[in-house]
Amino acid sequence: MKYVVVSGGVISGIGKGVIASSTGLLLKTRGFKVSAIKIDPYMNIDAGTMSPLEHGEVFVLNDGGEVDLDLGNYERYLNVTLTRENNITTGKIYSKVIERERKGDYLGKTVQVVPHITDEIQNWIERVAKIPVDESGEEPDICVVELGGTVGDIESAPFVEALRQFQFRVGVENFALIHVSLVPVVNGEQKTKPTQVAVRDLRGLGLMPDIVACRCTQRLEKPTVDKIAMFCHVQPEQVVVVHDVNSVYHVPLLLEQQRIIQVLTNRLKLDSMNVSSPFIAKGTNLWNQWKQLTTSHDRMFETVTIALVGKYTHFKDSYTSVIKALEHSALRCHRKLTINWVESTDLEISSNDSNRVKFHKAWHEVCSADGILVPGGFGSRGTEGMIAAAKWARENKVPYLGICLGLQIATIEFARNVLNLTGSNSDELVDKPEHSLVVFMPEISKTHLGGTMRLGLRPTHFQPGSEWSRLRKLYGGADSVEERHRHRYEVNPEYVAQLEGAGLHYVGKDDVGERMEILEMKPEDHPFYVAVQYHPEYLSRVLEPSKPFLGFLAASSGILDELLENNLQVKASN
Ligand code: GLN
Repeated sequence: MKYVVVSGGVISGIGKGVIASSTGLLLKTRGFKVSAIKIDPYMNIDAGTMSPLEHGEVFVLNDGGEVDLDLGNYERYLNVTLTRENNITTGKIYSKVIERERKGDYLGKTVQVVPHITDEIQNWIERVAKIPVDESGEEPDICVVELGGTVGDIESAPFVEALRQFQFRVGVENFALIHVSLVPVVNGEQKTKPTQVAVRDLRGLGLMPDIVACRCTQRLEKPTVDKIAMFCHVQPEQVVVVHDVNSVYHVPLLLEQQRIIQVLTNRLKLDSMNVSSPFIAKGTNLWNQWKQLTTSHDRMFETVTIALVGKYTHFKDSYTSVIKALEHSALRCHRKLTINWVESTDLEISSNDSNRVKFHKAWHEVCSADGILVPGGFGSRGTEGMIAAAKWARENKVPYLGICLGLQIATIEFARNVLNLTGSNSDELVDKPEHSLVVFMPEISKTHLGGTMRLGLRPTHFQPGSEWSRLRKLYGGADSVEERHRHRYEVNPEYVAQLEGAGLHYVGKDDVGERMEILEMKPEDHPFYVAVQYHPEYLSRVLEPSKPFLGFLAASSGILDELLENNLQVKASN
């Protein structure tokens, strides 16, 4: 097993995750089987209980693990399926060590950060790196390990020390380190000092970079590269730059041009590894597809505008996978994507005069969009605005996609405005509504919030008589589909007959047929009114866009029929 560790200096949030996943992708194009581990040095056991406004989206895996959004990057770039174990947190490591201490595993010993915590970290990495992640079912060849935060933080100290020891445990020829740094441009001058200091800190902790990856708004000038090489004690070819590019999909190309794979090949002796020819062919094919995709991205001019009506819109990281799924679909439909970010509270009529400007602006964004998307969310703030947006989409025949909360919203809206059940609401949003259209799932814990939702991959069955469903056609006419979930509430089955009678059809249900998974209006009633209780965005891939998103984006671009008739392909000339 070869390990490529990616750490960060200077500041976090400059694209370490994208650089790590792009490196993994490049290794994959050479035929290697690549896995990934993300280390998050916080005390939470997982990201499930963290606010999306603080930490970004919570990503959900097949096994129901609620993890850091970087795991989503890895799954998308490497086309792999990861497990909750691939996200290591301080909380997980400590609780494991404490559990072992109580069992008496360390009997007689004083349990300490070094060696007990650091050993546990190393054991965890070695164990998880071996888990098969792709359809081959074989052990991976290379594992990318990304260390969250920046080196030098108090939080990450035990992990840095564990990695220092780890390079000797696995052997130096099996361990390479990429340190991601920032080169700010001040008054036109590219400043190398932060990078020098960051690398000095790293060396002081016993780790040496094999590649210094510099984020910069512009290309690095030759003297800048030479200076970094000299002060950081590396060869100039070990300094790569990731300057701002059109899209993150270009980053692998950028790294490839700078021969990052050659550096890693020499360093890790990758030439001596046995790679079977089918894997090499697959890798080459993947690379060609990737290059084609990024060039076609640069040649797209027709636009499609989607209004994203949510409550965390001030922090775009809260919707990473939703944005990605829209982008993947836009690439397939040859459309340039514009997202109108609409804070749903702004759509609500307020008595406060100063909010009126926001109100009109927000409605302008909704009304001028080609499609309206209401994503997942928790709590009542902004839900009346979402209900109003769903009403607009339904009445004006604008394509609508509701995800999780977005399905519950569409249900409440329909009950209120079509069935005239004016007191309709969700038990999550108000206390004892007159009509509880959305209710708490009986099997869910009311006292424990961590990891207790209905989570992970679960089947949805299309119902008899749903052959007309566009979503079903998008899924290739399947009888059932598997998608990832994350919710506590569900549509109240007692109202389903009434809702269906008036034209809102629950075409997909769970195993028992009691849990509503997909709602849809018939094609004669609406061009595309679809909502799902699951989160299809988590399984969307660059080259394999999520079907609900693809249908929604095509409908918003006015090419849904073409897409369905041509085996989900769209001609570029459209
Ligand atoms: N808050 C809703 C529920 O728990 C929706 C969850 C979501 O959108 N992820 O059911």
